Amino acid sequence: MDRAFVEAIESPEAGPDDIASLPLPEFYRAAVLLKEEQHMFDGVPVAHRNPTKSLHLTEVPLPAPGPGEVLVATMASSINYNTVWSAIFEPIPTFTFLERYARTGGLAARHDQPYHVVGSDLAGIVLRTGPGVRRWSPGDRVVAHCLSVELEDPAGHDDSMLDPEQRIWGFETNFGGLAEVALVKANQLMPKPAHLTWEEAAVSGLVNSTAYRQLVSRNGANMRQGDNVLIWGAASGLGSYATQYALAGGAFPICVVSSAQKAEICREMGAEAVIDRSAQDYRFWSEDGTQNPREWRRFGQHVRELTGGEDVDIVFEHPGRDTFGASVYVARRGGTIVTCASTTGYLHEFDNRYLWMKVKRIIGSHFANYYEAWQANRLITRGRIHPSLSRTYPLEQVGLATEAVHGNRHQGKVGVLCLAATEGTGVDAPEFRARHEAQINRFRVVSDSPDPVR
Ligand code: NAP
Repeated sequence: MDRAFVEAIESPEAGPDDIASLPLPEFYRAAVLLKEEQHMFDGVPVAHRNPTKSLHLTEVPLPAPGPGEVLVATMASSINYNTVWSAIFEPIPTFTFLERYARTGGLAARHDQPYHVVGSDLAGIVLRTGPGVRRWSPGDRVVAHCLSVELEDPAGHDDSMLDPEQRIWGFETNFGGLAEVALVKANQLMPKPAHLTWEEAAVSGLVNSTAYRQLVSRNGANMRQGDNVLIWGAASGLGSYATQYALAGGAFPICVVSSAQKAEICREMGAEAVIDRSAQDYRFWSEDGTQNPREWRRFGQHVRELTGGEDVDIVFEHPGRDTFGASVYVARRGGTIVTCASTTGYLHEFDNRYLWMKVKRIIGSHFANYYEAWQANRLITRGRIHPSLSRTYPLEQVGLATEAVHGNRHQGKVGVLCLAATEGTGVDAPEFRARHEAQINRFRVVSDSPDPVR
């Protein structure tokens, strides 16, 4: 996309008709995985699979929006962990998802391509709307959540996450956000928080909505004021939002992180109870591959020291295999372990006696339904929850950005500039922003500090 086009759509004078009449290019630049390379890492250990080798920046044909769809000029996007999974073809290549989706027919057939445009977040400007779209118009400044559902089956009508055709856009569908243009369903769109820059607005859609459902919603842990909430990875993607929800909702977060720097960020957010798991060197698994209950107890004692002797009401789980046994152990009698992921392995082991004898519950949670995503975005718009953007990469370095998250060399969220020429643009409510500047910048890594990747 040339700069003149971007300046034209960003211009405050440009009305919907002006933008709708701008000719669109036939091709756009996108971060893609290639179907012909989907087995390139076969036999390579997961930790050694390098996203800089599998992610390519290339030109792909611009899709036309079908009924209920919208083309968005993507000003900025973000790296989610699902981009890591996609780029290392783990647990299976995402082309399998695209083929499956395409087999459902109709417009879905377009998603099976020799390339997969990945990315499940965006902040941008509406370019074109497909037939039947009424809420959004060209020129609207938007963010997108990543819930793609068909809603043709009643199973999803009460909670859209229960739709049998539920997919994550840019992971299980094509034409995702790490590109100059994205194709979304109209009901994925939400208003862009006006006080944020493009890159700040782009990082929250997926993790903020997920943390909201997992912790706050009645579909998740239904957190209450005064709850003790143990949060793994409390200064990283999901956890940085969970920590904010706990604090904003009157709960007591017990933040677990892996460095003094991340511990400091949690304290700056307002958390008093912080555990640096690296400094404590917890070893929940022994060398022989069995769990080590003595370490669960050491961890539990530490938690009690920080809570004044109380156990935790809710464990916010996502590391999975490495931590799940400890998570089940430390939850209080009647407490809840709510899980949305298994970063370190999906075959969990825990001592079931601690679950049934102490009547604990394990709840599975996945992304968020339309309403939950909208509520989570509303809280950003109202300045109650803030983006945890730490560092922004240009689209050309999407592989490096993804590798940083894969290697856990990041904090908070990692942003990607797509059409936005520089960081710091896109703010429409500077006075409101000024009131929240400190919280918005809390995770920021000084931009000229060395790249953590190399
Ligand atoms: P992230 O930014 O990489 O944060 C994950 C954090 O977990 C890490 O930074 C690390 O924090 C902590 N962690 C990693 N390994 C650990 C271990 N062995 N023990 C204890 N803590 C460990 O990723 P994210 O965006 O938060 O996503 C986390 C997981 O959730 C991913 O698997 C992702 O795919 C999944 N997810 C699922 C959904 C869903 O809808 N189901 C949505 C979003 C994300 P410290 O090093 O500071 O401890």
